[in-house]
Amino acid sequence: MEAGGKRGKGRGMAWGDKDEKRGPGRRDKDGKRDMVRQGGDGRKTGRKAGEPMSIKTEGGPDRDIRKDPDSAERKKSLCPVSKRCGGCQLLDIPYEKQLEKKQRQVEELLKGSCKVVCPIQGMEDPFHYRNKVHGAFGYRKGEVISGIYKEGTHELVAVEQCLLEDKKADEIIGTIRGMLKSFKIKTYDEDTGYGFLRHVLVKRGFATGQIMVVLVTASPVFPSKNNFVKALREQHPEITTIVQNLNDRQTSMVLGERENVLYGRGTIEDELCGCIFRISSRSFYQVNPVQTEKLYAKAMELAGLTGRETVIDAYCGIGTIGIIAAGRAGKVIGVELNQDAVRDAVQNARRNHIDNIQFYHNDASRFMTKMAQDGERADVVFMDPPRAGSTQEFVEAVAILKPRRVVYVSCNPETMARDLKAFGKKGYKAMEAWPFDMFPHTENTEVVCLLSR
Ligand code: SAH
Repeated sequence: MEAGGKRGKGRGMAWGDKDEKRGPGRRDKDGKRDMVRQGGDGRKTGRKAGEPMSIKTEGGPDRDIRKDPDSAERKKSLCPVSKRCGGCQLLDIPYEKQLEKKQRQVEELLKGSCKVVCPIQGMEDPFHYRNKVHGAFGYRKGEVISGIYKEGTHELVAVEQCLLEDKKADEIIGTIRGMLKSFKIKTYDEDTGYGFLRHVLVKRGFATGQIMVVLVTASPVFPSKNNFVKALREQHPEITTIVQNLNDRQTSMVLGERENVLYGRGTIEDELCGCIFRISSRSFYQVNPVQTEKLYAKAMELAGLTGRETVIDAYCGIGTIGIIAAGRAGKVIGVELNQDAVRDAVQNARRNHIDNIQFYHNDASRFMTKMAQDGERADVVFMDPPRAGSTQEFVEAVAILKPRRVVYVSCNPETMARDLKAFGKKGYKAMEAWPFDMFPHTENTEVVCLLSR
C-alpha cells in the first residue's frame, strides 16, 4: 500500500511510498523523495506565479542542452531549483557519466560477492519518466502555493515542470492550482490546521494513457464538488478518474484512509510485459514503467522457466513479477506483508485470467520458514525486498527449500551485497548482476541478480 509520504516531525519533508523508516536523505523504493510543488509567488525564484520554468536553449531550437555535456549552460543547473529541492543529486552530471558512476558503484559493492556485473541498462530518454507526481498545496501571504519541500525543511520550492515527472501530470497540477481561487478553495495550512486542499497526486498509466487525479483534502465536505470536477475535466478530458482522499489528521502521511470517488472508477490500469495491472491511489506501482519492463524481462530470462516450475514471488507487492511469471510456470506463490497490496494482487491475477497463482498475506521470512518446516519445495524464488533488504532467516529458509535459482531484485545494492554474502554461505553463488537505471538523475540504482546452487 502506498501510504503516501512521511514528513519529519512538525516541519515538512515529504517522503515517498516504500520505505517505512524514512528520514532526511533517505530514498524510497521509488527512488526519490515525494515531490511537493509550489506555484511560486516569485519570491524565491524571481518567477511569477504560474510562470513556466524554461530551459534556455540559446544555441537554437535544434540543440538540447540536456544532451550536450559541453554546453556553457550545463555549468548552471538544468533545473533552476535543483539545489533547493535536492531530489536530483546527479542532474548536472551528463547522463553517460551518471551511468558510469552507477556501474562503478554496483561493481564496487558487489565485488567479491558476484561473479559478473553486466553493463548498466540506461534510458534512451532519461527525462519525464515518473508516472506518479505529487504536489502539496499550501497558502502563504495571499498566494496559493504548491511546491516541493526542500529536504529537511519547510521551505517551499517553486516547480512548474520537473524534469523527472510526467509532463501531463505537471500540467494537471498547474491547472488545479489555477482553479482554486475561482472556486474559493482554501489550501490547507499545516501550522493552523485550517483550509481544505492538502495535496494532489497524479498517476498515469503510460501504456494505457489512463490518468488518476487524487485530491487530498482535510475535510470531507467538498464545496462545489461537481462543478470543480466538471471544470477540471473540461480542461483535461484525458483524466479517467478523480478521487477525493480524506486526510484530516495532523500527520506526516500524505494520504489518508478514506476515499470518495468523484469521477470514473477510482482506479487506473497499466500494462507491463503483456499483463494488465490495476493501480489504486494507495497501492505501490513502479514509477518508471519503461525501465520496469526491461527489468522484469531480465528477471524472467534469468529465472529460465520452462512451464513446470513451482515459483515463489517474495515481497510481491501487487503481484507484478509473479503474474508475469505465471504463464511460464507450473504454479506461483506470492507473499507480501501489506494487506492492500495482497488484495490488489488477487484482483490483478483475476484480471489477467491467471489461475495458477496464490497470494499470502505474511512476513516473507516467516512464510518461507514455515514452508521449509512443512517440507515444501520450490524451483525458483523471485525476491524483491524493500531497501532494508532481506533477512538471515529468509536466506536459511531458501537454503532448505533448495530452489535451483534465486532471482534477487533490489533497489539497494548495499543490502543486496550483504544478502548475497549470506546466500554464499548457504551454497548459492551469485552468477550475474544486471544494474538498471530506474531513477535517472538520482543516486539510486536497481539491480537484478541471478543466484544458483
Ligand atoms: N515486487 C513488487 C513490489 C516490490 S516493493 C513490484 O515490483 O511492484 C517491496 C514490497 O515488499 C512492498 O510491497 C512491501 O510492502 C513488501 N514488504 C516489505 N517488508 C516485507 C516483509 N517483511 N515481508 C513481505 N513483504 C514485505
